[in-house]
Amino acid sequence: MRVKLWGVRGSLATPMTSAQLRDKARALLAEAKPADLANPQAIEAYLDRTPHSWTYGGNTSCVEVELDNQTCILDAGTGLRSLGLNLKNDGRDQKHALHFFFTHFHWDHICGFPYFGPIYMPGRQIDVWSGRSDAQRLLTTQMDDAHFPVKWNMLKSVITCHQLPEDQATTVGEATVRIMPLIHPDKAYGYRIDHKGRSVCYLTDTEVSKNPNKVAEHYAQFVDGADVVIVDAMYGFLDYHDHINFGHSTIFNFIDFFRDADIGELVIFHHDPMASDPQVTRLFTDAKRYTELVAPTAKWKLSAASEGQHWDLPGR
Ligand SMILES: [Zn+2]
Ligand SMILES: [Zn+2]
Repeated sequence: MRVKLWGVRGSLATPMTSAQLRDKARALLAEAKPADLANPQAIEAYLDRTPHSWTYGGNTSCVEVELDNQTCILDAGTGLRSLGLNLKNDGRDQKHALHFFFTHFHWDHICGFPYFGPIYMPGRQIDVWSGRSDAQRLLTTQMDDAHFPVKWNMLKSVITCHQLPEDQATTVGEATVRIMPLIHPDKAYGYRIDHKGRSVCYLTDTEVSKNPNKVAEHYAQFVDGADVVIVDAMYGFLDYHDHINFGHSTIFNFIDFFRDADIGELVIFHHDPMASDPQVTRLFTDAKRYTELVAPTAKWKLSAASEGQHWDLPGR
């Protein structure tokens, strides 16, 4: 299994501004020593180690889970566009089974779908999975009327929508898939995908922070044994209190939930579009400090999601 993040931002795509780019360029230039700029190799090495040479990214939710001959795509936010181009470049758009898994159908999780190349390929089989029975209607609506030039019924691919049951594992091609209802306006479902002894959990968008004790045990059971657990940690502790009932969480509750859990890595995801890179880094630093205080024996690693971040998890 290989897991790769293509969109990590919540709610609204957030391209980097010129002012933010200049901030990074200024810091890069100010901190560079003459030896860092001496030749192309030295420059590459400097760019590899400085925190100013990259960004968490501004595309909305999209996660690729690559299996042997199957590509699973968790949510179709704006990150899907780059994933689609990547599939085209290496030929998987033709060769691999393509399965979408939707947490829910808010804009930030579906708006990349009309820009995904394979939906225009004649006869291309694409399977869409969710916890709802009306996925096709919801995907069709965003291409209806004045919203998009190409209508659903003009697509040449064969897109089949399926509803996943809540209370049992489902075999989807090479994968075993489980869903769990989340706490979010209307409805949303978290996922667990297992394949050859490896697993990834994807739990966005959900508001566990309103009544954490009620759901802690259930979440901990759902993720038990997973290699990578991606969670909605949109807000800092104080920010959350300005956004109660928005359907999102802080990372601190998940650190509490998974204190003793057998997981490999806990990933802060669905970053607030209002948060700059330094602000996301500050949240990550606070979360690491909180982990040291309340979960000093936790075996897992903590990270803050960035576009391009990936995990290679060989089957066992
Ligand atoms: Zn969202
Ligand atoms: Zn949402």
